[in-house]
Amino acid sequence: MRNKRCVLLLSLLILLGLVFSAAAEEPAPADSWVCMLCGTESTGDACSACLSVKGVWRCHGCGKRNLQGICACGKSREESLDEYLAEDMMTAFPAVHYLAATGRPDALCLLAKYWETGLRLSQDVTHALSCYELAGASDYAPAYLALGKIYDQGELVEQDSYQAMELFQKAADLGSAEALWFLGSYYEEGRIVTLDYAKAMDYYRQAAEKGDADSWMNIAYCYALGKGVEREIDTALEYYLKAAEAGSHLACDYLGYLYMTGDLVEADPEKGLEWYRKAAAMGNSRSMMALGYAYQTGEGIQADPQEAARWYEQAALAGRTDGAAAWASLTGAAP
Ligand SMILES: [Zn+2]
Ligand SMILES: [Zn+2]
Repeated sequence: MRNKRCVLLLSLLILLGLVFSAAAEEPAPADSWVCMLCGTESTGDACSACLSVKGVWRCHGCGKRNLQGICACGKSREESLDEYLAEDMMTAFPAVHYLAATGRPDALCLLAKYWETGLRLSQDVTHALSCYELAGASDYAPAYLALGKIYDQGELVEQDSYQAMELFQKAADLGSAEALWFLGSYYEEGRIVTLDYAKAMDYYRQAAEKGDADSWMNIAYCYALGKGVEREIDTALEYYLKAAEAGSHLACDYLGYLYMTGDLVEADPEKGLEWYRKAAAMGNSRSMMALGYAYQTGEGIQADPQEAARWYEQAALAGRTDGAAAWASLTGAAP
C-alpha cells in the first residue's frame, strides 16, 4: 500500500511538472503552487498571472477574498472550492487545477477534460490519459470508465476494444453501473468476446440493479426480440416501464413510439403523447420532434401549428438541425 502511494505521489509530481511546465518547457519547481483565483501555477509569494498573494481564495457564497480558512459569511475554503468544482468548465478551472494538484481523483478527472477539449489548456491527449490514470490509481471508478470510453470510441486514441473492456472491468469491479452496461453490450454484440445473450442479460441486470436505468431498456429489448430468452412481449413491456420509472428518457420516448404506432401494444395516441411529453421534459429531443409532428399533422391530437412550432423550436434548441428546419418551414422564418 505504501509503495502504491509512493508511486502515485511520484507520478503526480511528474504529471504536475508536465502540466505546469507546458509553457516553460522545464519541470515545475518543487515549491510551486496553484492560484485559487486564476488557476495559474506559480512560485514565490504572489501569483505570476493575477499577482494575488499565495493562498488567497474567493468565497463562492459572497465573493469576498480570504486568506484564512473560513470566510466571514461562514463558508469554508473547502466548501467553496467544492462549489466552484460543480460550476461550468470556465468558472471551475482554478478550483479544478488547485484540487487536482492535491491529487483529488474527481478533480483529476475534471482536469483531464480540459486536456481533452483544449479549453483553458492546449489540447493534449497524453496529458488527459495521465490524469485519468492517476485518478484511477486511487480506485476511482469514474476514471476507468472514462478511459474505457476513450478506447471504446477510438476518436482520441487508436480504437482498442481489448483495452476498453479491461478498463470497463476495472470500473465495474469498483462499483460502476455504467461500466457493467458496457460489458453487457460487448457480449450482446459478440465484440471481441463470444456472443452470449445470457451473459449480456446478466450484466444488464447487475447494472440496472445498481441504478443504471437504461440497462432495463436492454433487458426489455432482449425480451421483445427473444434474444437469449423466450420472446415475451408482456415481460418486455414490464421492463420498458421499469426503465421509464427509473428515469430513462430513452424508455419514455420508446414507450411513446410504441403507443403511437401500435407496435407491441394496442395503439393509444393519448398514452403515446403522454410518454413523449415525459421524455421531452427529460430533454429527449426525438420526443420533442415527435410532439411537433403530432401537433402539426393532428395525429392523435387536435392539430395546433403554434404548439407544433413550439416543440420544433425546443428540439432545435436541444441541438437538432431537423428541428430548426421544421420550425423554419412551419413559421416561414429563416432557420
Ligand atoms: Zn492568480
Ligand atoms: Zn463568503
